[in-house]
Amino acid sequence: MTTMQPAPEKFGDIITPFYYYDLNTLRATLDTLKKESESSGYKVHYAVKSNYNPRILQTISTYGFGADCVSGNEIAAAIKAGFKPSETVFAGVGKTDREIEAALAADISCFNCESIPEIEVIDSLAARLNKTARIALRINPHVEAHTHKYITTAVEESKFGINTWELDSVVSKLGELENVKLTGIHFHIGSQITMMSVFKNLCTKLNDIQKWFSSKGIFIETVNVGGGLGIDYDDPSKPPPFEEYFALFRKHTELLPGQTLHMEPGRSVTGQCGSLISRTVFIKNGKTTRFAIIDAGMTDLIRPALYQARHKIENLSSSGGKTCQYDVVGPVCESSDTFAQSVELPETQRGDFIAIRSAGAYGEAMASRYNLRNIPASYFSDDF
Ligand SMILES: *Cc1c(COP(=O)(O)O)cnc(C)c1O
Repeated sequence: MTTMQPAPEKFGDIITPFYYYDLNTLRATLDTLKKESESSGYKVHYAVKSNYNPRILQTISTYGFGADCVSGNEIAAAIKAGFKPSETVFAGVGKTDREIEAALAADISCFNCESIPEIEVIDSLAARLNKTARIALRINPHVEAHTHKYITTAVEESKFGINTWELDSVVSKLGELENVKLTGIHFHIGSQITMMSVFKNLCTKLNDIQKWFSSKGIFIETVNVGGGLGIDYDDPSKPPPFEEYFALFRKHTELLPGQTLHMEPGRSVTGQCGSLISRTVFIKNGKTTRFAIIDAGMTDLIRPALYQARHKIENLSSSGGKTCQYDVVGPVCESSDTFAQSVELPETQRGDFIAIRSAGAYGEAMASRYNLRNIPASYFSDDF
């Protein structure tokens, strides 16, 4: 897989910044994911929040994957793009009544629940609609994800998930409720996880938790291991390690007869297919720092400002020849509006096209209108 960046001539007078998606990269990624999931017998729900661009969603839905949604609007967008309600799950710590009602009306496959009060509300809303809601318990397995703290979700005193010591009271509560049916257990321990041992630790915890449910005589149909698989931001042409990832779960999970394992990849599906394309507005020389001021900012791609994330940066207009070090910054009135410091680029001029790579996940999806800037447009390789 090589993510192609079109020659800048092709961009003509398209207004920058914009997102450019290489659909061949996306399809190659989806082909591998489909092959691995089918041969493992696992069900994939794509995490819509990583990229909900309609065309991206449509492309992914044609592969027959389900959708993992975290808001009512995501559920609506997923169904509109072709995902089946019966293969759509709804996660999140703060589902509102309106969102729950809409999800019940759409007959989604499962609510991934994070607290007793949430389960009680789902039960009462389902009763009112004369439905039974299928639920999974999102359990906090206390696995350290070794990733940025903002995307670590499974430590103690995290707002996410039900702690294992609460399971007794959750299960006895479930016994009192008539309009919810426990069908699964769910885990999601964080994002951009690159240490495979983290997933192995998750399997160990998961196997223990399975034994606990068995000992209570409770059968769990689906075991959902969430998402979190990381990508190589230093090498945008590198596909995510799906083979290794699936093999790890095949080796280390002890599934019971009749159980299905579910996965919810987001970043690993969409990350490498997208680039944020911008033009250089000015080169500004400080005392020791040379700033390349580009027309993309933290409003278009917030990951560097929010998580100190690094993305590979390329000058598409010039290659070879003399190189210089630049701080690549955006126009937004915040010092954190910096994409990279001291990055080596070919000598860059006003007007040069700059590509920020591996921006397909949590890029466009997190765009904002701060400074009353425009939301970036999106373009697709198939259209060039
Ligand atoms: C964000 C999220 C995912 C996807 O995470 P990635 O790191 O993008 O793979 C999956 N499941 C849940 C519950 C999430 O919140």
